[in-house]
Amino acid sequence: MVENIATTRKSKMSWFERVPKVELHLHLEGAIPHDALWELVQKYGGDPSAPDLEALERKFEYRDFPHFIETWVWKNRFLREYEDFTSISEAVARDLAGQNIRYVEAFFSPSDFFRHGLGTQKLTEAIRIDLSRVPEVEVALVADLVRDSGPEKAAVTLAEVNEVRDLGVVGIGIGGLEQHFPPEPFEAVYEKARGLGLHTSAHAGEAAGAASIWGAIRSLRVDRIGHGTRAEEDEALLDYLAEHRIPLEMCPISNVRTGVVNSLEEHPIRRYFERGIIVTINTDDPKMFGNSLAEEFRLLEGKLGFSRDEIRSCILQGIQAAWLSEDRKQRLAEAFRRDPAW
Ligand SMILES: [Zn+2]
Repeated sequence: MVENIATTRKSKMSWFERVPKVELHLHLEGAIPHDALWELVQKYGGDPSAPDLEALERKFEYRDFPHFIETWVWKNRFLREYEDFTSISEAVARDLAGQNIRYVEAFFSPSDFFRHGLGTQKLTEAIRIDLSRVPEVEVALVADLVRDSGPEKAAVTLAEVNEVRDLGVVGIGIGGLEQHFPPEPFEAVYEKARGLGLHTSAHAGEAAGAASIWGAIRSLRVDRIGHGTRAEEDEALLDYLAEHRIPLEMCPISNVRTGVVNSLEEHPIRRYFERGIIVTINTDDPKMFGNSLAEEFRLLEGKLGFSRDEIRSCILQGIQAAWLSEDRKQRLAEAFRRDPAW
């Protein structure tokens, strides 16, 4: 009976939902289902700006990028104890698995929670225990060293994260206020991370322009760029990205929601794809932007003219850009191609 219900539900899903997917740019704290967040808000005595679930959902509409960051910080006030990460991680993983997302590289931002007295390593453990309860999706962790905290703090977080790498931490990144905290001061931290064998990404070309992407490439020597939306401001940069095959973790709907682009129709992803830049499709903070990976693909088809074959190429580019062994990538791609929904 249970199987029948599951089968019926699956048959009602659109191709975009059924097709197997990977996601390389997802913030764990931005992917908390609203009911799970609402439970945390209530646990900590409620909040006058979100008296009910509907009001809480309305908070996730933004005027601009700084307003989005402000809301991000507000939300994190309700993640105070290790057990809070316990409940959200499983909720996030179940949500991802339900969308046929099979492999995820998820950011988590330990230093955002130091003020609640939480430590990097126990936090990583709390997250990992609950992700493991959902075997349908494999979630690798990427530590966001949070640029706003500065390079010294980032170096400390890196050292802490390195000690718990066996919990599935595969890389590092820097998120936060890109326009105020450029990449260059983090050069030594990235050098260190590379030396430790960790993969690297940096948010660049989202709230700041092409110079920030050049900084991430030249100073940080990143494996991938988070967003890269504003690369188009510099033709030479576009050539460089294509030639050196530096993948972009693109997040189209996120860019519209935070005002980085005016509309999806104006988003450069189609032009980058045609130019041979490796683009991957991601949601960034799905429960803060009201998007899903299926919705991203639906809009790529509907608004930007991507064919199903081109969408499949984007999914395969996501596998290719993942921080997995060549063997694992090959097996994942084969499993996707064999999937009836492919
Ligand atoms: Zn992001």
